[in-house]
Amino acid sequence: MQAPARSTDRLVFDLVLARRALDAIQLGVLILLGVVYFAAARPVDAADGLQPVPVVIGLLILATGMRMALGHFGREIAVLRLFWPVLDVALLYTLIAVYAYQYQLAPTAILKATTVDAVFLLIALRVVQFDARIVVVTGAAAVIGWIALTVYAIHAAGPLSVTRSFGEYMTSDKALIGAQVERVLMIGLVTLVTTFALSWARRDALTGLGNRTWFLSRLIDRKQAKRVAGRAQALVMLELDCGHVLRAAGGYEITQKVVQRTAKQLSVACEPRDLMARIGDCTFAILVTGLDNGMAAEAFAQRCLAIAEAASEVDGYSAKGHAVAGIELDEARVDPATLWRNAQSALGAAMSGRHGRVVVFDETARRAAEKRLRLETDLRSALQPGQLELYYQPIVRSADRTLLGVEALMRWNHPQFGIVSPGVFIPIAEETGLIVPIGAWALDQAAADYHRLVAAGAPADLFVSVNVAPRQVEEWDTLEAAVRGALAGGCPLKLELTESALRGDIDTVCTRLNALTALGARLAIDDFGTGYSSYGHLARMPFHTLKIDRSLTADILDPAGRAVIEGIVSLARSLRLSVTVEGVETAEQWVTLSALGVHEFQGYLFGKPAPAADLIAMLPARRGGESAIRVA
Ligand code: C2E
Ligand code: CA
Ligand code: CA
Repeated sequence: MQAPARSTDRLVFDLVLARRALDAIQLGVLILLGVVYFAAARPVDAADGLQPVPVVIGLLILATGMRMALGHFGREIAVLRLFWPVLDVALLYTLIAVYAYQYQLAPTAILKATTVDAVFLLIALRVVQFDARIVVVTGAAAVIGWIALTVYAIHAAGPLSVTRSFGEYMTSDKALIGAQVERVLMIGLVTLVTTFALSWARRDALTGLGNRTWFLSRLIDRKQAKRVAGRAQALVMLELDCGHVLRAAGGYEITQKVVQRTAKQLSVACEPRDLMARIGDCTFAILVTGLDNGMAAEAFAQRCLAIAEAASEVDGYSAKGHAVAGIELDEARVDPATLWRNAQSALGAAMSGRHGRVVVFDETARRAAEKRLRLETDLRSALQPGQLELYYQPIVRSADRTLLGVEALMRWNHPQFGIVSPGVFIPIAEETGLIVPIGAWALDQAAADYHRLVAAGAPADLFVSVNVAPRQVEEWDTLEAAVRGALAGGCPLKLELTESALRGDIDTVCTRLNALTALGARLAIDDFGTGYSSYGHLARMPFHTLKIDRSLTADILDPAGRAVIEGIVSLARSLRLSVTVEGVETAEQWVTLSALGVHEFQGYLFGKPAPAADLIAMLPARRGGESAIRVA
């Protein structure tokens, strides 16, 4: 098994691994017991008579092996989940009893065996199943079993086998009642403490529902269990727009109340066999059983949305129209991580607002998700030579189209799909963290290309603008080293960061950005006008350039769009930032923007992104030695 990178996948991977490890440990210990028995501990005369010890060990191995196999093939019978630990405990006690029998020990001798340690181990191991009920059942079976064992031993050995003297207890085979009571109490106590710890760990503090780990753990159990006919399952994810609640209701406390009430009402609407958890700030997951088709699941989700909206009426506020649901019907019997991911993409589609408020994950979505997963896997090998390439788009001075710099834009030449747009693979790289090495490669490559350009006749002050993702700022050491390396050869480097890079602890971000400028890089704020800027933060940051997003450029010819750009230009002026406008496609846009006092332009009008070689082809060395380069 190769460890996956995404966080939910990782969690599912860990949970499944823990379960398998639990069974493997148990199986390993039992096999070892068997080996020890035959190699060293078998009584000399055992060959003739009955040998119960290996029989019981064999039964234990069989039970463990069977449980592993049933779970692996999704054939476990749900009610047996609670029965397995009882069987384990019962067989363990039987094993102790038959050891005593076969080695002809006094029956009370077994009460001194280290059985109790094994019982504690059984309880502790059950924790990985993240189910308090299993711990309780195991503990209860252990207590009852211990009492039964005590009664049996004392009964078999007669009343004289009990002593009240600790000294005699230590030096003979006799049993001490006090010691037995203490053991029962200890088992009970350990069970109790473990159960409490588990219930705290599984609970979402605000709503009292289960949390994401608990939900995934139960989902894995359900997936291992045999499906009862006519009991199709659907995973419904429901999200209230928390941001909207916060803005409209005007307070964190109300948002919390809304979440609490919604959780309560939703759980009333669920059947006892359904699973429900709070998996995000305002996000709930429900695993519903008994739905036959997509329509039934959709109707259920609509009902949940109505409940959520009604529940959100707190202090005159309601989230009406601001809740969405995504559904994955578990028809294809996919693994838990895929089920989760599909429900999440359905929720994402619902949140985008283009497909209605309830979205069922369907065949098209499945194919898209498969392709995405494929890209995610393949992206790991994208750093092999020849797959990634930087294209360069000119950035020009307004008056005479003089080439001032270039923006490096990444292209991925996928061995099978051909050129993949960065709009597709950069978000995947961000999510998986692969952006960190890929981004470092881009800085390295951009600096190398700069030197090729200068050698071919480009002016030495031509700046190279490289995009830096938020994740790269977080992985500071790698970024710093890459920037240092790129600057070392004298490349005039500009780093483009979007407003989302300013997330996290603002002081840390500020310190890091200052460190980048201290190294000699200039900073540009990218896609300005698309996020929610905190202008206060912006003023504190050492930016040099503000890049107006191309969605704003597209609106420049209507008065409202023009007013927005005018506002941004004057803001930039007061913050002493130079302005670059992106996405300029027509001469009309260019003229209008120039009249507003913008001096730097980027867009298809001046040149599309192209390989470095294409840029070299239009340099003055090949065009008769002009000093400034003008873009056609
Ligand atoms: P961006 O930084 O906003 O880059 C500008 C995008 O606008 C580029 O898309 C460019 O091809 C496109 N564009 C430029 N002029 C015009 C125009 O006149 N009209 C229209 N319609 N589009 C224009 P591209 O190359 O597909 O890149 C998309 C995004 O991917 C970039 O947006 C950037 O956020 C990201 N990206 C690209 N390369 C890298 C990289 O090396 N590292 C990181 N972190 N992100 C990158
Ligand atoms: Ca950019
Ligand atoms: Ca941009």
